[in-house]
Amino acid sequence: MNYSFKNGIEFARSLDHNDLLKEFRNEFFIADKNIIYLDGNSLGRLTLKSEKQLLKTIKSEWGENLIESWNKIWYSKPLETGNKIAQIIGASPGEVIVSDSTSVNLYKLAMAALKLQKERSEIVSDVFNFPTDLYILQGIIGNLGNNHKLILAESNDGISIGLENLESLITEKTALFVLSHVAFKSSFKYDIKKVTDIAHKKGALVLWDLSHSIGATEIELNKWNVDLAVGCTYKYLNGGPGSPAFLYIRKDLLEKLDSPIQGWFGDSKPFAFDLEYNPAKGILKFLTGTPPVLNLMAIEPALDIILKAGIKNINEKSKKQSEYLLFLIKNELLNLDFKIGSPENPEDRGSHISLQHREAYRICQALINPENSPLKVIPDFREPDNIRLGIAPLYTTFEEIYLSVKRIKEIVEKEEYKKYSSVRNKVT
Ligand SMILES: *Cc1c(COP(=O)(O)O)cnc(C)c1O
Repeated sequence: MNYSFKNGIEFARSLDHNDLLKEFRNEFFIADKNIIYLDGNSLGRLTLKSEKQLLKTIKSEWGENLIESWNKIWYSKPLETGNKIAQIIGASPGEVIVSDSTSVNLYKLAMAALKLQKERSEIVSDVFNFPTDLYILQGIIGNLGNNHKLILAESNDGISIGLENLESLITEKTALFVLSHVAFKSSFKYDIKKVTDIAHKKGALVLWDLSHSIGATEIELNKWNVDLAVGCTYKYLNGGPGSPAFLYIRKDLLEKLDSPIQGWFGDSKPFAFDLEYNPAKGILKFLTGTPPVLNLMAIEPALDIILKAGIKNINEKSKKQSEYLLFLIKNELLNLDFKIGSPENPEDRGSHISLQHREAYRICQALINPENSPLKVIPDFREPDNIRLGIAPLYTTFEEIYLSVKRIKEIVEKEEYKKYSSVRNKVT
């Protein structure tokens, strides 16, 4: 798709006016219009439907109906919610379940895959992967007696990983690929199908972390023959802070994989209280223990909004808004020592843009805590010099993108950032 953009606020407003998805912003709790939120890739906004559901869960389900709500509502929610997520990622019912955190799910699936591939000893990932994924793998290798090796593909340009780099690392010993679909820093997006095919040719399995892509990009797990996947529900899915994650296992692999954490929720009859573990059938065996019900209950209403909008439409808008943002960056910021730290081609990107500047941290501080501007802009900062501008198509407007770029320009031109400290906060 080729877009032709113009500068100026009137043009931004006309883009909003003609936007197919503009009504969906009304589904979100927006406390203050002068706060521009560009961090939906880290923590999605609260939907009004989730707010309503949470109040109901607290007052009626917990307050009034107490333990009866387990049978009536809560117990089946991990699978029901998983089936809704399946619709967003091109999976089938019974292949997705909501449970634990992404880190724990990655542990469960990587351990299960390595057990299945026990004659192979190498795991391939890349230098852009989210650190928790690498830490989990390093821990697994230690637990398994240090007989496995973790090999990381490098980047030639600091932004993307070439498929040839990945391919050169595969050997007959490769058991598993563990990769993030979209890189959290640069926004580089893999072609899942191509990478999965490369791995399968050599007999390796692939485990995809979809945390940074689900809810903003089109994903077709079944069509692309993906083996395993995990991901967050609190980013573009808007499930709420700490909402439990999901895991996906392709149907024909379900029988062959065992959960390495044999909790009672994964047992075939948790309430028989048998002394011996007997795994549940299908995806249910990958549950662990009691889920965080309040967080769990907030996810489904948020997913309904995504299903109503359509992931294809959301993805189209994400690409258009990212291209618009890049157009403005090129027009307004590149002469102020900024660099674009994301791929040029929209097909190679997720839904955020990384903007690099040696004063990135202090510029972020000035955006978030303005002294002389009515506008508060919330991006996030990633070491060492990245300002991440996240686009959540369901609620980010073109006008907000325009105003944010103007604000960044003002901060640098007037050297506002110099008033701020570069000592990092605990959470950035
Ligand atoms: C956000 C994110 C995570 C977070 O994992 P948690 O266990 O929920 O803390 C993991 N992987 C990727 C790629 C992420 O973007």
